[in-house]
Amino acid sequence: MTLAVIGPGAVGTSIAMALANTSVQVDLLGKRDETLTFHEYATSEQHAVSVKALKHTNTHYDWLIVAVKTTQLDAILADIERLCHKETRIILAQNGYGQHDKIAHPYVYPAVVYISGQKTHPHVTHFRDYRLHVQEDPHTRALAQILTSSKLELTLERNIEHNIWYKLLVNLGINTVTALGRDTSKVLKYPSMAQLCRNLIDEGLRVAQADGLQFEPSLTDDIMTIYKGYPEDMGTSMYYDLTHQKPLEIDAIQGYIQKRAQVHHIATPHLDTALALLLYEHEKAQTS
Ligand code: NAP
Repeated sequence: MTLAVIGPGAVGTSIAMALANTSVQVDLLGKRDETLTFHEYATSEQHAVSVKALKHTNTHYDWLIVAVKTTQLDAILADIERLCHKETRIILAQNGYGQHDKIAHPYVYPAVVYISGQKTHPHVTHFRDYRLHVQEDPHTRALAQILTSSKLELTLERNIEHNIWYKLLVNLGINTVTALGRDTSKVLKYPSMAQLCRNLIDEGLRVAQADGLQFEPSLTDDIMTIYKGYPEDMGTSMYYDLTHQKPLEIDAIQGYIQKRAQVHHIATPHLDTALALLLYEHEKAQTS
């Protein structure tokens, strides 16, 4: 079996490292040929990792795991097509939803990513977890079987949309308020920001329910309780992207929920305002 991971960042490099020393031949593909350093935070182990230039790769892989940011996907769509044969299976190891519609290939699996890490080029640090959730079918079952000897945990779901929407709603609240508040999760100590967060999740929950997802009405409270367990100094990816003036993954998170709200004619005034402010930051980052 041949497998390539596209995007040698925090998630992609962690996945490639988790698959090392297995029977699977794994290529890690990035912008250029280079060597990165991979740091396992829990054990302080360090490894050198080889990256091959995506543009110069012409292999047809059986599995592709895409781990670029959602804002970077458009730039590699032609590369993805070039690396596929008819039966290639593509896993999108990204936050958000809706990106699969951009890929002109029949077998795309949007995944929910539970891998925590950070890249400061050329160093990648892996903090916690090596887990991807994907839709269960005979192909993902076969892959999960092959990966049992690896560190990468492939959790198979009967209805991946449910897991995707759950993570979307978790990201919707905390990513939005930390980015707009330019603060870590301690932003929730401010009642007005906690209320905004709650209103955003409530709106998202109504959209999810209109999309056919079954969540308990208490989900907003449950998510707010989860946030209370976050360390106060913990930032979110959107907070870090905004403060580093990088493009924001809003199209795949807040933007996706807004699009679904429009389909169902659901009013989302808090989401609309938050998205306008985030879009402004995103566009500034793209032109800077
Ligand atoms: P990241 O560290 O920025 O990694 C993205 C990688 O893609 C970078 O190495 C980047 O290369 C590479 N890339 C960008 N454009 C490329 C191109 N045209 N060709 C080849 N490689 C390209 O991002 P990440 O944190 O791994 O996040 C990946 C996805 O996982 C995101 O959707 C994120 O929201 C999600 N996620 C992340 C975490 C986390 O803890 N990091 C947790 C859960 C979910 P350069 O480094 O050279 O720019």
